[in-house]
Amino acid sequence: MVATMMNAQLSLNHIIERAGTLFADREIVSQMPDKSVRRHTYADLLRRSRSLANALIDAGLQTGDRVATLMWNHHAHLEAYHGVPMAGGVYHTLNLRLAPNDIAYIVNHAKDRFLIVDDVLLKLYAAFAKDVSFEKVFVVSLTDAPVDGPFVSYESLMADVPAGWAPPPVDENQGAGMCYTSGTTGKPKGVIYSHRAVALHSMGSAMTDTLAISQHDCVLPMVPMFHANAWGLPFTCAMVGAKQVHPGPHLDPVSLLDLYEREKVTISAGVPTVWIGIQQTVSQNPGKWTLQPDMRMVVGGSAAPEAMIRDMDKLGMRVIHAWGMTETTPLGSVANVKQSLIDKGEDAQYAARAKQGIPVPFVEIRAVGEDGPVAHDGQAMGELQVRGPWVAASYFDFPEANDRWTDDGWFRTGDVVTIDPDGYIKITDRTKDLIKSGGEWISSVDLENALMGHQDIAEAAVIAYHHDKWVERPLAVVVPKEGRTVDAGALSDFLISQGIAKWWLPDGFVVKDAIPRTSTGKFLKAKLRDELSDWTPESSGS
Ligand code: AMP
Repeated sequence: MVATMMNAQLSLNHIIERAGTLFADREIVSQMPDKSVRRHTYADLLRRSRSLANALIDAGLQTGDRVATLMWNHHAHLEAYHGVPMAGGVYHTLNLRLAPNDIAYIVNHAKDRFLIVDDVLLKLYAAFAKDVSFEKVFVVSLTDAPVDGPFVSYESLMADVPAGWAPPPVDENQGAGMCYTSGTTGKPKGVIYSHRAVALHSMGSAMTDTLAISQHDCVLPMVPMFHANAWGLPFTCAMVGAKQVHPGPHLDPVSLLDLYEREKVTISAGVPTVWIGIQQTVSQNPGKWTLQPDMRMVVGGSAAPEAMIRDMDKLGMRVIHAWGMTETTPLGSVANVKQSLIDKGEDAQYAARAKQGIPVPFVEIRAVGEDGPVAHDGQAMGELQVRGPWVAASYFDFPEANDRWTDDGWFRTGDVVTIDPDGYIKITDRTKDLIKSGGEWISSVDLENALMGHQDIAEAAVIAYHHDKWVERPLAVVVPKEGRTVDAGALSDFLISQGIAKWWLPDGFVVKDAIPRTSTGKFLKAKLRDELSDWTPESSGS
């Protein structure tokens, strides 16, 4: 073939070297456990990442070796994001919300060689230390407690690299990072992100028509760095030179709002639960915080109900609804308003923004129906399948799950969707959560979103319960807003007013204080199904 362009490797080293020189003074702010703040710059991040890379190579790290991280969101975690791949290694973020034995399983499955851990998380490490065998444990001091015992001080790795030091060359297809899925069922499965995938994903996420992140932004990813690379935002920010603010362990609405105001945050990102907390806190304290005009909130991980998007808009926080998965690095689609909807009025635009959006460039999608279920708006539902340069090609050492990829090379997401004529994806369920009543499909997500539009409902989850005649019927679990009560008849009437068919109406409404959640904030429907396995309309008196 005739030579066309240079075959330059898409390496993460380029991103951090560019940020550290072109945006040398741009700030990286990290909140510590005692709420004090450490201020670094991209120049510091480059320097310290190089020190870490050099130290890891000295410690014997070989290309492809995994280095586990057990950390909150802060500068040292960012240094691992850049420094480990720079050394040729793969940073492996451990989810600190998992049970210790699950963390041990993941560490052993990934064959992690080293661990970088926050001092404030040493107790958690101690709970699974006997089941794992790291060669070295590097401790990041977030408090004044001395690092001793068998541990190595992370700070001791920060010696300047010798003059002329250069990182080893990188093949763009080699691993840079790793994350295990936090699925609601089954064993966690590891995804290894290549340099190329993360580099292209960063470009795809920064685009004006996706998350629109530029050097002028100040980004606070409250999504944890152990959940799908904090949605890739640390890399996207470094690529464009945006200021970064990391909240450390303080993820309550008041702490976040204080940071938004003080650091002049323009974009934040997280799951809907956190947003609902922020929205309620702002509504209850009008005028308490001065946020940046047109502040943007990237919402994903679970569906952003339309009512929430409207409420956030009223408070001056513009929701950008996005869909993704651990397996897709994670950004797959973004729900901005397409030009073709500009003249179609506000309702059409809100409806589009409450969908999961249109695919990001280079991500291809299709909806494949097994037996052709139809959503309540009449559109064909099918399983969403995706492919693209930042979609995983397999799980790490887990051949049992190879059936997640089709023979013609698409990844089966397990999400059931409709795709409208404008190309917007709408998730109607997880394949395993769809409710099949008398042979017809009912979307639990449609019911949940409609219920969460009711003024007295804070949260709603809908599951199937076993029914002798219809096999499955929907049962709603609702969490009323503070001080409110709910009434089954009124909720049913409300659902009908929202266009829900009568035969879709839940057979019962169970009131709870909270919906159980996974470690990454998704409804844990398996637990609800267990808890309510004996539920019958008779037992509930409805
Ligand atoms: P995770 O790998 O933990 O990021 O989970 C990925 C799954 O989260 C997807 O397959 C969806 O089921 C769900 N998800 C992610 N984003 C959204 C969204 N915007 N709306 C609804 N579900 C979502």
